[in-house]
Amino acid sequence: MSWAVVLLALVALLVFSKRYAWWRPAVGREHPRILMYHMVSEHQPGAKFNKLRVKPDVFEWQIRWLNENGWHFALMSELAEPEKVPPKTVFLTFDDGFADNYHQAHPILQKYGAKATLYLVVDRFERDWSTAKKAHHNSGELMREPKLSDEQVAEMLASGCWELGGHTLTHANLARLDEKQKFAEIQGCRQQLEARFGGAVTSCAYPVGIYDETDGALVEKAGFTSAVTTVEGIDKDLHARRFELCRVKVSGKDNRLAFRLRMRTGKRG
Ligand SMILES: [Zn+2]
Repeated sequence: MSWAVVLLALVALLVFSKRYAWWRPAVGREHPRILMYHMVSEHQPGAKFNKLRVKPDVFEWQIRWLNENGWHFALMSELAEPEKVPPKTVFLTFDDGFADNYHQAHPILQKYGAKATLYLVVDRFERDWSTAKKAHHNSGELMREPKLSDEQVAEMLASGCWELGGHTLTHANLARLDEKQKFAEIQGCRQQLEARFGGAVTSCAYPVGIYDETDGALVEKAGFTSAVTTVEGIDKDLHARRFELCRVKVSGKDNRLAFRLRMRTGKRG
């Protein structure tokens, strides 16, 4: 074999390893996985946020794979008693409230008897929240994306496959608010969702993943029992981490291998 071939094989292995991080140690299956989704839809040509769009056939494969491999689906409210969460548990979570959650994800969850927690923004229409993180994300792409109507949310909840979590009133960037404003966003969201849809809202997701060390106390004061972040990973002590839980990001760009590796290690690459 020539040196060129050996070198080429080595480079290929390095590129593959960087992309898939297969070498990362597996996290024990007694530790639940909290998966983060946004949209389940086809990609839009040239769109910036296609990584937030998991294609419907890919989503169906993921749910079928979880089901066939013995993963148990649970709702985030069940984390109030972490000691009762069985091994091989997966929490599906959806952020924001995109209409495709009803049109695409909901029938698939029903088909496989899966469950999911929907972190719903109360005031979600005509709002360009992608600029809350970076001002230059002002293409309006996420604003134009259709959102769930209250009627659709009610139907999803009635099926028993879904529960609601809070994602603030306006998808606020908490870092830009004072404590009083933050509390109004966090608690107001819980109160409005409970008043509108009934049922307890016990889990919260920080918008655009931005939070600081004092926000967990505010979330607790507002009546929530858990909060999720956008930090990638799998927590081993759910109680200690209950107000800053890591999630496993599911990207619209992932293939089957990448999804399996994320389930194994919590991260990709
Ligand atoms: Zn969000």
